[in-house]
Amino acid sequence: MQRRHLSVLGATGSIGLSTLEVVRRHPQRFSVYALTACSSVEAMATLCREFEPAIAVMADGPAAEKLREALSDLPHVRVLAGEAGLSEAATSPGVDTVMAAIVGAAGLPSTLAAVRAGKRVLLANKEALVMSGRLFMDAVEESGAELLPIDSEHNAIFQCIPAGRIRQPDAAGITRILLTASGGPFREMPAADMALVTPEQACAHPNWSMGRKISVDSATLMNKGLELIEACWLFNISPEKIEVHVHPESIIHSMVEYADGSVLAQLGSPDMRTPIANGLAWPERIDAGVAPLDLFAIGRLHFERPDTKRFPCLRLAAEAFKTGGTAPAVLNAANEVAVEAFLQGRVRFTDIPAIIGQTLSAVAAVPADSFDIIFSKDSEARQFAYACVTKLACEK
Ligand code: NAD
Ligand code: MG
Repeated sequence: MQRRHLSVLGATGSIGLSTLEVVRRHPQRFSVYALTACSSVEAMATLCREFEPAIAVMADGPAAEKLREALSDLPHVRVLAGEAGLSEAATSPGVDTVMAAIVGAAGLPSTLAAVRAGKRVLLANKEALVMSGRLFMDAVEESGAELLPIDSEHNAIFQCIPAGRIRQPDAAGITRILLTASGGPFREMPAADMALVTPEQACAHPNWSMGRKISVDSATLMNKGLELIEACWLFNISPEKIEVHVHPESIIHSMVEYADGSVLAQLGSPDMRTPIANGLAWPERIDAGVAPLDLFAIGRLHFERPDTKRFPCLRLAAEAFKTGGTAPAVLNAANEVAVEAFLQGRVRFTDIPAIIGQTLSAVAAVPADSFDIIFSKDSEARQFAYACVTKLACEK
């Protein structure tokens, strides 16, 4: 057993806390070297007292100052601030495994830094890969980093492909990936009612408990759109070979179909501690604290096709991937702005796809040749999407 030294980027979030729950069960196996958060000082201070990391980072400068005060009796915990601090947490020689669980584009620089430093990178931050797909995967190849998917669907797919063939679908005999989706809280809602849904309704996911941004993404099916793009990059497969299956029970986390007709699936309770434990211990298996699956209690599993008329975000994501270049980064940026505005009550749920569609038309895609180009298109898209939000908020 190799003892692993972890950095948890986004430690106070839903994935970060689930990671630390798994770590807590295996003190012999894991030590926590670095924890990071954005601005939640109290939550970080509590985690630092428990795990006593060498480094604690607050992305927000004033929050770092407050954390330093709060931890003045723990001089061995070095409190750092901002992007430089995040980068140190991601690349320090004291770290071999990085959980990339910051939400959104904000996580790209530190996730990429961990990749470039050749760490084992547990990828929850799907937005980073969606934004920079080819450059990100090139960086993985160049550094020899070990990239393990934590998104439950991608972790399921990863578990269903032989280890040496993860990025060689043809050699593996893979004919299709069946990407499952819960359908979110509005799966059965008529289109006419969707304009009136509230952030609370959107965040009340039927099966998973998650951060607010990804909860809204699940409700619009943008999450599945981002995951479609994520799967294309991770498994080096074309989107035509990926078919989204709405599966409301969220028991099958995805499937891989092979040339001989076999379909391999990974099943489990909808609990992120399973894919997290899989990534942390891979290729070994450890107790994740997850209750055993009771298929008798579940009884039946259902499948349906996604309805892209009611959920246009899935179609927008597929189109952006097809357009290529910087289009997925623009899609992601517009989505982040639109979701935030919806959570603040400034725009309606149905405005989210409208804002993204308009931004994709306005901000032309160019080849994604460098991270600078990607970040510049990300800001251009954000500016355009903010303007859409302002206009819609006035009309609302
Ligand atoms: P969350 O909102 O619960 O937590 C986000 C974390 O990131 C927090 O620790 C926060 O402090 C930190 N953060 C936020 N903004 C930041 C910034 N600007 N700079 C630095 N740190 C910042 O989110 P979550 O649900 O844990 O999701 C995290 C990532 O994992 C997302 O990319 C999400 O898509 C992905 N993911 C989550 C789940 C899930 O079940 N929650 C499942 C699959 C994938
Ligand atoms: Mg997922």
